[in-house]
Amino acid sequence: METELEIGGVSVDVVFKDIKNVHLSVYPPTGRIRISAPSRMSLENIRLFAISKLGWIKKQQTKLRAQERETPREYLERESHYLWGQRYLLRLSEQAGAGGVKVEHRRIVLHHPAGASVDVRQAILDDWYRRELKVAAKPLIARWESLLNVQVSRCFVQRMKTKWGSSNPRLRTIRLNLELAKKPPECLDYVILHEIAHFLVPDHGAVFVQLLDSNMPNWRLLRQRLNEAPLAL
Ligand SMILES: [Zn+2]
Repeated sequence: METELEIGGVSVDVVFKDIKNVHLSVYPPTGRIRISAPSRMSLENIRLFAISKLGWIKKQQTKLRAQERETPREYLERESHYLWGQRYLLRLSEQAGAGGVKVEHRRIVLHHPAGASVDVRQAILDDWYRRELKVAAKPLIARWESLLNVQVSRCFVQRMKTKWGSSNPRLRTIRLNLELAKKPPECLDYVILHEIAHFLVPDHGAVFVQLLDSNMPNWRLLRQRLNEAPLAL
């Protein structure tokens, strides 16, 4: 069971588990807060617990967000990069050929030609993110096509400055922001559902909200998770 609390302007995900002690975590990159609580603990007690930790929570969040807003990515050794909500350290590896990317344990290994510039290293990584996103999106799109009884003719992945996705209901196409590959996969699923839902309902009115509610009850949480972070670095 999952729920959400609002405490002193901080939103907290609460997950009930079969555990003895309540546990609080702050997640990078945005400082998302999650409390794992014993199944029997009351929401009121969880709220009191969170309030007692509020000072600490805010300090951690400020720290993480400051780190995140540091200089733009330079595609250097040991730089932090994200894939599906997880942080990885970048490793550079010189190699003949066009270059490519491999994930090894907690590292993203970027193979690149000797003397590759920042732009080339970024292009190799973006290319890989694009492929990762397309592969991940495919089964999710297929599932919503079948559940909502609609067809998506094409899905594009591109850099978008202000939106996570868009759709063209007439042409039955959807567009996904490349940055989604860096977010938790359930956020991608939400954006796909949102865009496909526009095939059926053009606006964000009550019918649209009802459609999301009945298909993805926690969509507000996922939307909030996406909007915690600035779109592009
Ligand atoms: Zn929309």
